[in-house]
Amino acid sequence: MNHFETQAIRLQAERTHNREHSTPLYLTSSFVFEEAEQARALFADEVEGNIYTRFSNPNNSEFIAKMCALEHTQDGVATASGMAAMFLGMVSFLKAGDHLVASRSVFGSTHQIITKILPRWGITHTYLDTAKPETWESAIQPNTKMIFAETPSNPALDLIDLEWLSALSKKHGLILHIDNCFTTPYLQNPADFGADIVTHSATKWIDGQGRVIAGCVLGRQDLIAEVRFMARHTGPALSPMNGWILSKSLETLAVRMDRHCQNALDLATWLEHQPNIKYVKYPHLPTHPQYALAKKQMRLGGGIVTFELEGGLAHGRAFLDKLKMLSHTANLGDTRSIATHPASTTHAKLTSEERLAVGITDGLIRISTGLEHIEDIKADIGQAL
Ligand SMILES: *Cc1c(COP(=O)(O)O)cnc(C)c1O
Repeated sequence: MNHFETQAIRLQAERTHNREHSTPLYLTSSFVFEEAEQARALFADEVEGNIYTRFSNPNNSEFIAKMCALEHTQDGVATASGMAAMFLGMVSFLKAGDHLVASRSVFGSTHQIITKILPRWGITHTYLDTAKPETWESAIQPNTKMIFAETPSNPALDLIDLEWLSALSKKHGLILHIDNCFTTPYLQNPADFGADIVTHSATKWIDGQGRVIAGCVLGRQDLIAEVRFMARHTGPALSPMNGWILSKSLETLAVRMDRHCQNALDLATWLEHQPNIKYVKYPHLPTHPQYALAKKQMRLGGGIVTFELEGGLAHGRAFLDKLKMLSHTANLGDTRSIATHPASTTHAKLTSEERLAVGITDGLIRISTGLEHIEDIKADIGQAL
């Protein structure tokens, strides 16, 4: 029962008197108390059980039980979006006067939280570069409480050594919070390297079919108790419908990720020999500058491939318009292959210097490799090149 695939399938909610094979959907706002004493004990946290879906729900609990088993964490909280998870994973531990050390390469809305929202409450930050690990220790201040990072970064696909970062965090008594959305628990388990909090946007590879917005915060029991307190009373609860969908999605995560990663490696290898391309980046491609680290901490290379087109902005946009099958949409981690040109879309508001600081050159194209036949993916990209 302790293999990834088996746990993702078999960690089901307890069967009801109806003897169902697939877990039922619990679309209920609240749960009935059998007697006044039970209600008292539940509210006093003396016994475990459902009270109200903002607090817990069997579908969300099943999803979280699986995520904890797969991420090797003790406890977790399901959230209505990946951003609710990022936010809870920060504000459950940070208060006015605290300081956060973060990798500069973070998801766009995470950047807004760190630079625009946390400062309203007197929480400051220092951004650091993945390429300059020697600068990280000197950025830690007496009031630093947390280190936050994503690896690999989006869209630059730069890596951070999780073992090194965890040792640094432990040396200074900090909470290490890793957004593991890009790799899923199938490819990388930050908790094994010493991360204290692991967050996910389940919207991406975990659902994997572009149907839901969801997330979760996972970690040690004592830390998750703080997150649960914050979540219960501020209300970013996951819909049980989405919890049910995600638990089903996890049943196929391993086979889906195997094929996403196989297609991505195949695509990246092929792209290296195509015309009009300056370079291709993929963690498990031997030409990636951190190939050895990628092999050490990522079981497979992931589903994202990036490449740099000759001809900058104009060619980047033209490439997207020429695609016939690949989708041009602001998501990733779908059965459908998706192409993005960050410089003219997600990161268009930054200056080109700011974009370069996070590895976004004008001709950079990001492909989220889907599950279509690899020859069809290559054919579409080939004709657009
Ligand atoms: C998409 C994403 C998020 C935000 O998740 P939502 O589910 O869209 O709220 C956070 N981090 C990373 C790395 C992402 O790709």
